[in-house]
Amino acid sequence: MTKIGVLGLQGAVREHVRSIEENGAEAVVVKWPEQLEDIDGLILPGGESTTMRRLIDRYGFMEPLRQFGESGRPMFGTCAGLILLASDIVGYDEPHLGLMNIKVERNSFGRQKESFEADLSIKDVAENYNAVFIRAPHIVSAGEGTEVLAECDGRIVAARDRHYLGCSFHPELTDDHRIARYFIDMANEAKASLAKA
Ligand code: GLN
Repeated sequence: MTKIGVLGLQGAVREHVRSIEENGAEAVVVKWPEQLEDIDGLILPGGESTTMRRLIDRYGFMEPLRQFGESGRPMFGTCAGLILLASDIVGYDEPHLGLMNIKVERNSFGRQKESFEADLSIKDVAENYNAVFIRAPHIVSAGEGTEVLAECDGRIVAARDRHYLGCSFHPELTDDHRIARYFIDMANEAKASLAKA
């Protein structure tokens, strides 16, 4: 069975576990870098990117996470996780993992819209998708090779760059598990092609 890890340092971990299991895949809460060796894809959850980064450093996750991505295994960053994946963050000199070819801006929907829901059309995933945004970042620009999957009010809120998937919102907070399904399919495909190589 496909095993999907959820980085379990901080944030909405349990909700992601539920949406993976609802799709019939196995979920693993990843608390130690060694656990990365045993999974086919990894979700970086929403929460607080600066706190998560501190914990990534404290538990020695930085290099293992980069190597995980570079090995070709899929990673899915949601909200704060998207910020961790991005190659560029507005106002910062350095990215965190810097694996996904996108530029993001934190907390970019303004204070009056701290949290809100919106109906989105997400390419290859869903025509009508109710998305929950909480102090969400948005994707300012998608680099070469990155495909825009969804926009909200003219802002990019979901994209895919090779085996990296990212969205601004919290797909794990509703009962609509279609994005988790899409990510599990990415992990299945990567698993099959890495086994052949
Ligand atoms: N505002 C948070 C950050 O910058 C992200 C919010 C979230 O993950 N819901 O890290």
